[in-house]
Amino acid sequence: MKALIAEPSKTYRQLLETVCHAVDIKPTFATHSDEALRHLSLHSMDLVFTSLQLQDGNGLEFCKKIRELENTKHIPVILLTAENNKNIVEPATQAGITEIFHKSDIPRFQNYLNEFINRESTHSNMDARVLYAEDSLSVAKLTIHILETMGLTIDHFTHAEQAYEAFQTTDYDLLLTDILLAGSMSGVGLVREIRSIEKGKSHIPILAMSAQNDSARKIELLNCGANDYVAKPIFKEELMARVHNLITNKKLLDKLKAQQHLLQELAMTDQLTELYNRHFLMELAPKHISESFRHKHPLSLIVIDLDNFKTVNDTHGHSVGDIVLMQTAQLLKSACRNEDIAARFGGEEFVLILRHCNAENARKKAELLRMKISDLNPEGIAISASFGIAELPLNNTCKFDALFSAADHAVYEAKARGRNCVVIGKVLPPDS
Ligand code: GH3
Ligand code: MG
Ligand code: MG
Ligand code: MG
Repeated sequence: MKALIAEPSKTYRQLLETVCHAVDIKPTFATHSDEALRHLSLHSMDLVFTSLQLQDGNGLEFCKKIRELENTKHIPVILLTAENNKNIVEPATQAGITEIFHKSDIPRFQNYLNEFINRESTHSNMDARVLYAEDSLSVAKLTIHILETMGLTIDHFTHAEQAYEAFQTTDYDLLLTDILLAGSMSGVGLVREIRSIEKGKSHIPILAMSAQNDSARKIELLNCGANDYVAKPIFKEELMARVHNLITNKKLLDKLKAQQHLLQELAMTDQLTELYNRHFLMELAPKHISESFRHKHPLSLIVIDLDNFKTVNDTHGHSVGDIVLMQTAQLLKSACRNEDIAARFGGEEFVLILRHCNAENARKKAELLRMKISDLNPEGIAISASFGIAELPLNNTCKFDALFSAADHAVYEAKARGRNCVVIGKVLPPDS
């Protein structure tokens, strides 16, 4: 990174040189504004620092000249002043000064430089994919060049229809669209089409660009779902700043959503077995029950309790007991269809909710699972489980508690019959 420093005082030049080296900025010095302007016309600079007084005039006049020249007008110009004069702010802003720092407040100035460098490096290091709709090939060429210097990957189309097709099959971090495009769909149509999609992808940030710079058009665009607007001809720095902001916000939102998703998963998952936990089961089961009741689809609940599990722990240790639980859970999960629920109810007790499944089919499934558990031999240990089944009565309303209770009683019955067997329970009517 390079800075031009217009500073007549030798002492301050030395001080600024030290500051620049500390943040890895290469300084070039000038004492006169003419000399500084000549240098700027020949060499590209990332920053300009100027003192209020220069050998041949005033720093604010120098800044005004920088703002008048096409290739220098976007360079940040920092005014460094030794005076404590509040009246300087207004004329400095009018002259186009970017920031003012007091010469004695070096730490604040250094912070600014560090932030500036960070921002510049993220501007040129954006790992993101942009969908770009533009029918003018010359505008597209320039824009793509600017976006590529930011590290972005660009998929360019001249027709809105092609862009929409690409949008449906690829994940993008930004849509940049011109308003008038080749083909029958306009940029506004493209924005509307994307925003009308139900969820997920429709949240892509949209930056619209057009040569028509009237406010009615801009408002129409913003109303139909564009996030931001940039007028043609494009100013490189403006385009970069808007693109950078939209993509940064999108990435932040993506991160938040991923964290939220993770938290939801954590809240509904049993940490040891990765099955659903009891809390989630209690939340989900009533929904499945009322849906089955409404559509008169059969539904069965199976309670599975490992036999003599305490002995496994006592003989082999708690951590081996944990492995037995994990492997049993894995077996139950792999035996379930996607629409079924497999949960750890507590300790060594599991619950399956099988939709579209009557008691007889649930019994067959339980028999199969019972045999698989007997064959599992986790850590070389022979285990077995007792099964209790309850089918949802479809002629009488039945709450989860009653269904669970029937299956749980059936497990007691299975234990009483000598364990390692399946028993079908009976759901009691609500008022019994
Ligand atoms: P039964 O055949 O009658 O079901 O006998 P059981 O020994 O399986 O039943 P009991 O309720 O007496 O013991 C259950 C044991 O499960 C006791 C408890 O320490 C153990 N347990 C509960 N949660 C965990 C766990 O997360 N990890 C391990 N390793 N053991 C657990
Ligand atoms: Mg066009
Ligand atoms: Mg047990
Ligand atoms: Mg138990």
